[in-house]
Amino acid sequence: MSQKNEKQLSESELMQMRHSAAHLMAAAVQQLWPDARFGVGPAVKNGFYYDMDLPVQLTPEDLGKIEQKMRELKNKKLPFERVELPVDDAIAEMDKRGQAYKVELLQLLKEKGSTAVAKETGDADVVDTDSSGGVTSVSFYKTGDFVDLCRGPHVNSTVQIGAFKLMNIAGAYWRGNEKNKQLQRLYGAAFATKEELDQYLWQLEEAKKRDHRKLGQELDIFVISDEVGPGLPLWMPNGTVLRDELERLSKEEERRDGYYRISTPNITKAQLYYRSGHLPFYREDMYAPMIIDDEEYFLKPMNCPHHHQIYLARPHSYRDLPLRLAEYGQVYRYEQSGALSGLMRVRGMAQNDAHIYCRYDQAKEEFLRVMNLHSRYYKLLGIDDYYMRFSKPDLNKLDKYVNEPEKWIEAMNVVKEAMDESGLPYIEAEGEAAFYGPKIDFMIKSVIGTEYAISTNQLDFLATERFGLVYTGEDGKEHPVYVIHRAPLGSHERFVAFLIEHFAGAFPTWLAPVQAVVIPIADRHNEYARKVYETLFNADIPNAINGMRVELDDARESMQKKIRKAQLQKIPYMLVVGDKEAEQGAVAVRLRNNQDLGSMPLDEFVARVHERVVKRSPEL
Ligand SMILES: [Zn+2]
Ligand SMILES: [Zn+2]
Repeated sequence: MSQKNEKQLSESELMQMRHSAAHLMAAAVQQLWPDARFGVGPAVKNGFYYDMDLPVQLTPEDLGKIEQKMRELKNKKLPFERVELPVDDAIAEMDKRGQAYKVELLQLLKEKGSTAVAKETGDADVVDTDSSGGVTSVSFYKTGDFVDLCRGPHVNSTVQIGAFKLMNIAGAYWRGNEKNKQLQRLYGAAFATKEELDQYLWQLEEAKKRDHRKLGQELDIFVISDEVGPGLPLWMPNGTVLRDELERLSKEEERRDGYYRISTPNITKAQLYYRSGHLPFYREDMYAPMIIDDEEYFLKPMNCPHHHQIYLARPHSYRDLPLRLAEYGQVYRYEQSGALSGLMRVRGMAQNDAHIYCRYDQAKEEFLRVMNLHSRYYKLLGIDDYYMRFSKPDLNKLDKYVNEPEKWIEAMNVVKEAMDESGLPYIEAEGEAAFYGPKIDFMIKSVIGTEYAISTNQLDFLATERFGLVYTGEDGKEHPVYVIHRAPLGSHERFVAFLIEHFAGAFPTWLAPVQAVVIPIADRHNEYARKVYETLFNADIPNAINGMRVELDDARESMQKKIRKAQLQKIPYMLVVGDKEAEQGAVAVRLRNNQDLGSMPLDEFVARVHERVVKRSPEL
């Protein structure tokens, strides 16, 4: 195979190759089921899919058959040939071939143009996307007997398609509309080389093993109860330890960075959200209001307006700024029930939120401090692979966001300078900014390479107008306040989901819900085991709640069984005690990774855990 000596593909070459693989798959399906009718088949992240109307319901065995046919066609080195046709001829041709969905697409193209098609079908590859008016001519790509409406470009020959694997079959309504027929969406993964494909498949397998929903249940971290409601996770004792320790970490870091902590209520009058702009625009993302004393109250979807009220409660002079207000704030947002997923997508969440109120001349420095705070957290948690994603508005369409473009440009420059000074990697994404200011998302990768968007930061220069946030300057006049919104540890919910995958549930000592378990070898050691347990329980370990998180396993089971159980619970230290340990006031320490540290005096073990916890060390 020629894959080995293939050079690294650029992102657009990769998408081109994946899109070509979609054609190859459709060509294979057409050979196997000549009556197949095709919807759309774009390239997507990690691969491609094609929506198809088939005379049979595909089974997993069919995927193997299709894959084999694809290989056969690939090795025939079929060229991708481009043909241009007037749109009416194209409609006639597709009609002749019985491709009803393509005829429908062509008619839509003819009447409304490609933007409408891209929007409705999720496929931007049909024709060039910027035609908002009707299209008069279209292009087709021919691969063997298979002909597809497509703007291209493609690889030259099927043999240039890299390594692929068909992954799964899902249902997808034609044109995303549930009133239409449900088609079969066949997904494939495709990469330039077999090594990359294998790496991706490994990552998927590993992600399954580390799935936070699975581990969250096995490790008693959270539970979702039908009687409480979907998307409203309940934190069990083990999960609450994770939250408490993370919150403590953020309290410490924020204190050092000059934040004050505040607390705000969960429900609020509608009026505040009209002021903030959440109402009426975001009403559908909020929970339905309740009426109290003839007034509408909402569950809060964001903490910002409340924090602004605290700022407004007192007058501020230039000397008071920056003012940094932090809260683990509980918010509620309505998500469609179909979109809910474990801790990743929830309806109620606690945000590691803060708002920094500052002068324009302080904004860059403050943003930089926020970036540095992120990198400290990431270093501590062994997150090495991350970058910032800077969302900027399209400068030509600035009036879409706000009618003061110069303020936008100022704010963007502040953020950009801070990013440059931070030395952290970033990318720029155009045309994506939130409407009240440039924003940065931190994208982090778990050790197995899954990317998560955890934290959003914004430089907000509009709050000053909406809320009248001002300070009195040295000149005695009122000046606008800049607000930085930040939440480095995101919501507890999403961040814990990330950490479960990242650590595969084997948390470092400072985070581990249970840090040690005492295991007597035989019944006659129970008394000493209890003494050890009590010493550790009361030991001076600076956890969120002082004292070691320790358990005693004196059940009538074999020692091996208890060790196995503790390993499954990913408890860092197993302390086995028998005659020798009882005599010497010691514990035999085994680590969850099977390493045997042998016997050590009890106070030495306490000192070891103390040190790990103080440093929040990843080592056991
Ligand atoms: Zn195509
Ligand atoms: Zn905010």
